[in-house]
Amino acid sequence: MQPVTEGIWATVGEKAQLRTATDADVRYVVNTGGQDHRWLGNGYWQAQGAEVIASKDAVADQQARGSLQMTALTRFLGASLDGTEPRTADIVFDDRYALELGGVSMEIVHIGAAHTPGDSFAWIAQKGTVFTGDIVYVERILGVGDQSSITEWPASFEAIAGLEPVYLVPGHGHATTLSHATRDTYGYLMNLRAQISALIDAGGDIMAAPQVDQSAFAYLEQFESLAGRNAQTAFQQMEWEKRLRISSPHDGLTAMAAKQRG
Ligand SMILES: [Zn+2]
Repeated sequence: MQPVTEGIWATVGEKAQLRTATDADVRYVVNTGGQDHRWLGNGYWQAQGAEVIASKDAVADQQARGSLQMTALTRFLGASLDGTEPRTADIVFDDRYALELGGVSMEIVHIGAAHTPGDSFAWIAQKGTVFTGDIVYVERILGVGDQSSITEWPASFEAIAGLEPVYLVPGHGHATTLSHATRDTYGYLMNLRAQISALIDAGGDIMAAPQVDQSAFAYLEQFESLAGRNAQTAFQQMEWEKRLRISSPHDGLTAMAAKQRG
């Protein structure tokens, strides 16, 4: 069994590809995130009897952005989108869901926001294989959008790395190894965080964000078109992160002291 996460317009090709591996019915579909191509095929699979699994945060994200995604796709795909009904998951979990099928155990885990608020990965321990969704990109640059979290993303990657997987099936790029994923995703994220953090600490503003040094990752596809935008979004999010971090330990201590006194 493999998680199938593509949208309906990709579903015909996806199904044909699936048939090269198995004739079995598709019983479960995992939405590893809230981007259009991660869930808009749900209705298609549900109509064939499959149950869709997603984290609660992914469902909330899908509900929040579904109509926007449909509008954007209609403009882009026109009539090819006919018959696509945004439908959310049948099985919804908070942070962990264990699935057992045909002697194979899979654990689906949601740590926090990454590329989207409800990203999760699917871990098949007995095969040493993890399906990472958009928590991992290789070969092409990852996207830090408004729906992403540069603050929480590293923790999801660290959770995957902690499993010591032999094979990673990333959200973008070919199946790969942990060291390659670490270089293209974690390395990219941590460099961006370090560069933006230094810029904010030096009193720089968001206009300077696209110029921070990301040159070590210029080999990634779409670097030219996305690196600058990623830096701007990271700046916006990290400004908040820094403000919250400055105020929250103090607020926390005050609240704790008040509790103790009370
Ligand atoms: Zn994606």
